[in-house]
Order: sequence, then C-alpha cells, then structure tokens
Amino acid sequence: MRELMIEPQQGLAFELRAGEKLKVIDVEGGQVADLLAFRRDDPQERLSTGATIDNNGSLYLRPGDRLYSNRYNPLLRLVEDTVGAHDLIHPPCSPEMYRCQYGIEGDHPSCYDNFAAALREYGLPAILITTPFNIFMNTRVYADGRVEVKEPLSGPGDYIVLEALCDLIVALTACSVAESACNAYRCTAIGVEIWK
Ligand SMILES: [Zn+2]
Repeated sequence: MRELMIEPQQGLAFELRAGEKLKVIDVEGGQVADLLAFRRDDPQERLSTGATIDNNGSLYLRPGDRLYSNRYNPLLRLVEDTVGAHDLIHPPCSPEMYRCQYGIEGDHPSCYDNFAAALREYGLPAILITTPFNIFMNTRVYADGRVEVKEPLSGPGDYIVLEALCDLIVALTACSVAESACNAYRCTAIGVEIWK
C-alpha cells in the first residue's frame, strides 16, 4: 500500500492503475479535496463532471456510481463513502476566484495553481484542467435553482474509496479556501492510500 499526505493548501499528482483503489481521507474533518483524472494512454480524455451527472442522472454520487470522461467512458467507480455529500459542479478555486469573490489581489494558494504545478510533472498543460470532483464539498442545490456551499459533513477520519477502471493520472488537492464555509473556515491536510 502506498500512503501519501497532502499538506494544507497543497496538491499532487500520481498514477493509478486499473483495478487499484484510492482512499481519500479527511484527516481532521471539514476539508475539501479536489480531484481530476486523466487517461494514462491519452490525457486528452479526462474526467467530465458534466458527463458524470448526465450518465448517473444525479448531481450526487452514490456507492456503485461511476465517474465518466469527456468521451463518456467510465474512469472511476465510487466504492465506499462515509460522508455522502460531495460536489460535481464547482470549478477549482483559482487566483481569479479569490480576486472576484474576496478582493484578494496578491498571491493566494489555489487548487487551480496546485493542479497546474502537479500536472506539469506529467507534461500535462493547465488547459486540461476542468471542473473537478470536489470530494467532501457540501453543496446544496435547492428546488428554485439556488446553490449554497455549506460546511462539509465530514469529520476526522471520514473517507471515500474510488476504484480505477483504467490506467489514470490523478491530481488531488487539499483545497485552499479559508475564507468560507467550503472548508469550515480553515485549511487542513488530506490523506491518501492506494492499494491493489
Ligand atoms: Zn480549492
């Protein structure tokens, strides 16, 4: 088993082989982890949250549901989930988001920049960054279309397990937002375990 730790406001990328399981752990609770996935043999084919919502017929994932690519092929399957509240609709936080929503003009760590740096190690350009699977992000969608991001429901040690359905490059972050309920107003670490 491989174990990794993503420090607060950091990110990394790693390979995940077909059949391998990926456990994403909210170490202290209340922390979002953004996930992107790319086919190892053709990274132009990558996670599409839109295709995932379309194929599952739901904004929410349940164990057994699959995450699909922009070519409508299954990339990952949700195996276990101790939380039950995640997000498929929000973009990764970015310098532009911090400027627009919080008036922060200077440097601020962001999932976008952390994705870009992690993907660079695999020769993948930032243009490939799309809407992530935002694990533990507690987005409520109301009947009138209003969307609200509330504090995560995850407590210390809560986790999800995903199974790779093909060889993938996965990028994962510990989200950098300390300014809102998204990460319960503090940024903490994300644990990772990978096994066959
Ligand atoms: Zn973020």
